[in-house]
Amino acid sequence: MDCLFCKIIAGEIPSTKVYEDEHTLAFRDINPQAPVHVLVLPKKHMANLLEADGETAGALLRTVQQVAKQEGLAQDGFRVVSNCGKNGCQSVEHLHIHVLGGKQLTGEMG
Ligand code: AMP
Repeated sequence: MDCLFCKIIAGEIPSTKVYEDEHTLAFRDINPQAPVHVLVLPKKHMANLLEADGETAGALLRTVQQVAKQEGLAQDGFRVVSNCGKNGCQSVEHLHIHVLGGKQLTGEMG
């Protein structure tokens, strides 16, 4: 399948891995929007949140928690974003959650 994130999961394209378990992978965004900008994704290909089952959603949120703690974001807080489809400006069609933090983020959401 011609999917950039599937190629990263397969190790065909390099990434800076932050955390990995059986079902999920977390790596640093190549174009960070904050001092900490990590992408959390399921290893199984699915286009976006609309395709996620409960087990996948749970595994992703556990990895978000792990990344937040590991990256030192737990005390001061962080933001979680998952762009979905055209209006959400999703550019890579493999479900991923952005974890952003390490500075005071702006109040703008859209
Ligand atoms: P989205 O626009 O929500 O689909 O997010 C896709 C994200 O993937 C963007 O923030 C990109 O900077 C990031 N990205 C694209 N290619 C790579 C790559 N090879 N390694 C890490 N992050 C990437």
